[in-house]
Amino acid sequence: MKKIIVQKFGGTSVADTDKIKNVAKIVIREKQNGNDVVVVVSAMGHTTDHLVKMAKALSPNPSAREMDMLLSTGEGVSIALLAMAIQAEGYDAVSFNAMQVGIMTENIHTKARILDIKTDKLRKNLDAGKIIVVAGFQGVTEDGEITTLGRGGSDTSAVALAAALNAERCDIYTDVEGVYTTDPRVVPKASRLDEVSYDEMLELAHAGANVLHPRSVETAKQFAVPLRVRSSFKLDNLGTLILGVDKMEIFKPVAGVAADLQQARIVVCDVPDRPGIAAGLFGKLAKENISVDMIIQSYARKISNTNDIAFTVTLADLPKTLTVLESLKAETGASDIKVDDNIAKVSIVGAGMIDRPGIASTMFETLAELNINIKMISTSEIKISCLVDKSDAHKAVEALHKVFGLECDEIADVKGDLPDV
Ligand code: ASP
Ligand code: MG
Repeated sequence: MKKIIVQKFGGTSVADTDKIKNVAKIVIREKQNGNDVVVVVSAMGHTTDHLVKMAKALSPNPSAREMDMLLSTGEGVSIALLAMAIQAEGYDAVSFNAMQVGIMTENIHTKARILDIKTDKLRKNLDAGKIIVVAGFQGVTEDGEITTLGRGGSDTSAVALAAALNAERCDIYTDVEGVYTTDPRVVPKASRLDEVSYDEMLELAHAGANVLHPRSVETAKQFAVPLRVRSSFKLDNLGTLILGVDKMEIFKPVAGVAADLQQARIVVCDVPDRPGIAAGLFGKLAKENISVDMIIQSYARKISNTNDIAFTVTLADLPKTLTVLESLKAETGASDIKVDDNIAKVSIVGAGMIDRPGIASTMFETLAELNINIKMISTSEIKISCLVDKSDAHKAVEALHKVFGLECDEIADVKGDLPDV
């Protein structure tokens, strides 16, 4: 049986018809290598952003179902155009949307998870020698409702398809040359990683490295799909391979530094120190599909017998979170709810920090030397995150990248705007 390669092309790779022709060539080259090819594409260029903008111009709070109806159209355009471009080169290609394939998701609009992917139609068309082009980002519920996987979700579509088809590899083609030790737009001396483990990539993706949709890495890890991130414009560079094996011994404690600028901190003040308060609070947030990141509960005050509970959510979930908290205020007896949306989460990630003392203190000292105040700290086995003021984020990343020895001599060749602060 032939090997199946899944290729995914992001918005910048299919931004105009010339770029779509370039993608067709890359796809055909893989087919000429003797492999079966399934291609997943995003919407062209900034299409999805434009669609969001139009929706917001009509309604401050458009319904989630109609948002999915709208945003899913972007990918519909690129699949048909790419299939035509491949056909124009003399190769047989067919495009399918999520409904035609059967990319089945939960019945949750704007951030649905994939439950199952039907493979019969895909296999039949591959067996007939066709190159298949599938719309990323979209899904369909059992009732035939259109869903989307959340912004950036095409990566997850591609990895899930690779898992369902038992593909040899999933190649994510993008506008950067791979995964870097930090954002090269912030630190030009960032170096590209040849290999990184699923666990490290997972932490980096959650920490705000915008290369991959975090759920795509989760899925790749779960189904052991080798994942490659590479540029569609510099084909001689193989990019970064993400896979399960760590090197036998890791010499650098930190593999990468990332900043997440899309976070908000909330403090629920003076809630009673008794069982069930945190369960009630976070249970209600979970019911509303709000995922919470860092959580800190303070040491109970002796006299009032109350705690403060502080946590972070994404900026996008902030309005919904505040509505939930307002409704709970009476129930919990909280004296106040404080919000700080002027923050960033700066993280260092590395499997090499396990059992190596001094990494956290080096991080804190580096921030202290820059007079950067730490507002919250959280850790996992292979990650340390600090919440800082948004305006300090880039400075912190730069210094941490240097102190942990991640700089390379070459200046990375990247274009693009600096991430907003
Ligand atoms: N087009 C969608 C977005 O811009 C999905 C993706 O590109 O991955 O978020
Ligand atoms: Mg993307």
